[in-house]
Amino acid sequence: MKSGNSRILLYHRIAEGVDDPFKLCVSPARFAAHLEEIGRHGEPSTLAELSLPSRRPRIVVTFDDGYADNLLNALPIAEAKGVPITIYVTSGVLGSPSGFWWDRLSTLLRSRPSAISEITLPIGEGTIRIGLGSSSRRKEIRSVHRHLLPLPVTEIHRVIDAVSEQWGVSAAPPPDARPLTPSEFLTLAASNVVTIGGHTVDHVRLRDLDAADQEQTISSSKEQLERLSGQAISHFAYPFGGKDSFDDHSVDAVRSAGFETACTTISGNASPTSDPFRLPRRMVKNWGRLGFRASLERWRLVPRH
Ligand SMILES: [Zn+2]
Repeated sequence: MKSGNSRILLYHRIAEGVDDPFKLCVSPARFAAHLEEIGRHGEPSTLAELSLPSRRPRIVVTFDDGYADNLLNALPIAEAKGVPITIYVTSGVLGSPSGFWWDRLSTLLRSRPSAISEITLPIGEGTIRIGLGSSSRRKEIRSVHRHLLPLPVTEIHRVIDAVSEQWGVSAAPPPDARPLTPSEFLTLAASNVVTIGGHTVDHVRLRDLDAADQEQTISSSKEQLERLSGQAISHFAYPFGGKDSFDDHSVDAVRSAGFETACTTISGNASPTSDPFRLPRRMVKNWGRLGFRASLERWRLVPRH
């Protein structure tokens, strides 16, 4: 990385008026305002341009996971504003009716029958019980999420199925939170403002896998996306992305699979000394124009007034 003053921004979903316990959504109007501010204060760039010299700070817009609203809501705005976006797609979830497990968990907890005051998670040989109803819904979801996170993804879906059956309620993800279908993925990939990146096959937390399984999911996701899109997939983002979600094996596997960069969710500004396989990002929230500008100031992209 040669550019001295770059920011890689992290979005997940562009949607409004939807249930959003994980704070993943930015409204379309606000996203449009963000892209205008990005154009005003920086040089909207792709990851491939990050190491090229630039008079203005480079700003790279990225999306994690592969939600359908990236095509339906984000793409028209990015195309209208001429801002390149990179979308890290979880290859095995394309077109999956189950979608992402955290969205099923959110539906499940929202549908909890009032007579039920705890959730019993059948995990491994035993069960974990968590009291419900005494703290905020967001805290409850986070607390259950923490117990499920280390499990294999198929196991997480099995646990959610078991509780859903026990409670007699649905755990279908909300329709607005569905992943891209394969044909929507193709439409997205065909846009000249879009770069597709890899995000594993099933959004597993990599550090819970041994080196061989990490290599498998990382290289399979690349192959699947390349076969589907007919494009070379050169960029990767670690699922969850925090420093405890991947390890040195993950970095080695990403490099040997042939990726050129990998983004984390570790907060920071990309600099000439940034490891291209551990790039820091800045998480963007549903800020209005002024809030977004204040964040650009906080990230030292524009001077403070
Ligand atoms: Zn993700």
